Amino acid sequence: MLKKRIKSEFIRILVFILFFTLLCGCKRKQSVWARVVNKDLPCLKGWKYIVIHHSGTKSGSVESFHKHHLRLGIGGLGYHFIIGNGNGMKDGEIKAGFRWKKQISGCHVSRAARYHNVFGIGICLVGNFERTKPTKKQIKSLVLLIKKLIKKYGIKTTDIIGHKHVVRSKIKLINNKLRVKFLKAKERTLCPGKNLKVADVRKKIDLK
Ligand SMILES: [Zn+2]
Repeated sequence: MLKKRIKSEFIRILVFILFFTLLCGCKRKQSVWARVVNKDLPCLKGWKYIVIHHSGTKSGSVESFHKHHLRLGIGGLGYHFIIGNGNGMKDGEIKAGFRWKKQISGCHVSRAARYHNVFGIGICLVGNFERTKPTKKQIKSLVLLIKKLIKKYGIKTTDIIGHKHVVRSKIKLINNKLRVKFLKAKERTLCPGKNLKVADVRKKIDLK
């Protein structure tokens, strides 16, 4: 009889431990993407990349892209900075979005390239540079902004990249530590367009 009671007590404790372990495990393995969208990643700061984009549109502004990105369900403006082209914002005007002001991760590359969302500063120039060229003022502002950012955050010039150069990755947060796995595939996009050459932008960056 006593043996039976000990056995059932033992099983009860075992089930409790199993349940508790599972619960803790679920809590630890949070979806990083969900935390990016929920603007809840302050613990992972440390900017490592500048990712250059074009909007693919003729016009646009911080407000119009913010509304568009809200509709896409990514919690509002995915870029950190917008540089206007005279349609919607002044030509060459630089405006920071809320993600930059709050110093939180972006949503400017796809879900499949999470590392660059978390650690990349997303700068978007208004325009479609597959069809037209960025304005001189836009390039001047872009170079000025990048110079400031790379100096402040110690970003290498080789880590100034276009959206299409971004390598896809998988990341996991386990006990608030990041595990990264880079994949071979790159982003499937023409962004920032053939007329905005990142190599030319890099050449204009001179820290002296
Ligand atoms: Zn892009």
